[in-house]
Amino acid sequence: MAHQWRGVIREYADRLPVSESTRVVTLGEGGTPLIEAPALSRLVEGEVWVKFEGMNPTGSFKDRGMTMAITAAVEQGAKAVVCASTGNTSASAAAYATQAGLTCAVLVPEGKIAMGKLSQAIAHGATLLQVDGNFDNCLDVARKLSENYPVFLVNSVNPNRIEGQKTGAFEVVDALGDAPDYHLLPVGNAGNITAYWKGYREYSQPYTNPHPGAPAGELPAVSTRTPVMWGFQAAGAAPIVLGHPVTDPDTLATAIRIGNPASWEQAEAARDESGGLIDSVTDEEILAAHRWLSAKEGVFVEPASAAGVAGLIKHHGLGNVPTGKRWVITVTGHGLKDPQWALRNADGSDVEPQRVPFDVVAVAEALGLS
Ligand SMILES: *Cc1c(COP(=O)(O)O)cnc(C)c1O
Repeated sequence: MAHQWRGVIREYADRLPVSESTRVVTLGEGGTPLIEAPALSRLVEGEVWVKFEGMNPTGSFKDRGMTMAITAAVEQGAKAVVCASTGNTSASAAAYATQAGLTCAVLVPEGKIAMGKLSQAIAHGATLLQVDGNFDNCLDVARKLSENYPVFLVNSVNPNRIEGQKTGAFEVVDALGDAPDYHLLPVGNAGNITAYWKGYREYSQPYTNPHPGAPAGELPAVSTRTPVMWGFQAAGAAPIVLGHPVTDPDTLATAIRIGNPASWEQAEAARDESGGLIDSVTDEEILAAHRWLSAKEGVFVEPASAAGVAGLIKHHGLGNVPTGKRWVITVTGHGLKDPQWALRNADGSDVEPQRVPFDVVAVAEALGLS
């Protein structure tokens, strides 16, 4: 019998830091569609799937980690949570904190927060403070706040976030029957690449849940292998590619506008252990991939979410993409978060609707039907 998806904690409780008595805070996140991308598949002469994380309750993959972080915060007696955010973390934290009855404080950097994300945090009643600084400065303040005051930090430096987010990899394997050959995704603060790699590794080996109170015993391996991980930063915010922090990160892909990723070393480990790469893509390549996804695959994402697709197209152009492989690309957030980019033509001008008179013949002519 069909049943409603129960959220990632209940679906994967045997592999998460929860016990029977845990009060689960969930909005039904996860269970997102894995969609075959026919045009990309034709381009690379392989099988390309996109994991559409915009279909989560607040419109990004952040919900996978937030259900776990807020659940753990409640279990530890929290009354308030704080996060630094380029937008989606705050939208997610505010929603889950509200459901749990916690207060939520959000620190956002100056400028360039997408309207959709800001309105979510405000709608859910978060206290929003705009800090005179960039994301990395916000995270610094949020960390110190949580060390010195009674608030819990729910950024991805909180290990519960990584635990929740690793379920993305589980779902890919569960849907395809095994790990893909390659997994591509955007890299900002590098929590997600860390989480996917953890998930893929745990699914490829026998696993014993280390959490006290978790069911005892060893779970069998689910997949026979792990994928090669390819991560993509924006060219103006590519510290891992450059090998040093970037003081003034700059990209229109605001969700990955980060100059000093908190999970830097873990991202390098995912790259090196999987035999993969972390590379950069320009804003132009990101916008082209964003347009490709919406116009050719029927999937509308926010710009940062298209970085993995931009990376695949770039490396196909460089001749680095072998044929006959299976590729999964996480597209991280929904297009409605930051819709303005769809309303620009390739030359940068605004899209204007074509005006027609109130007349069926004129409309038919405009549609090329006569
Ligand atoms: C947070 C976010 C990213 C970056 O993920 P990290 O875990 O910080 O690397 C990419 N895309 C979107 C839409 C995001 O919200």
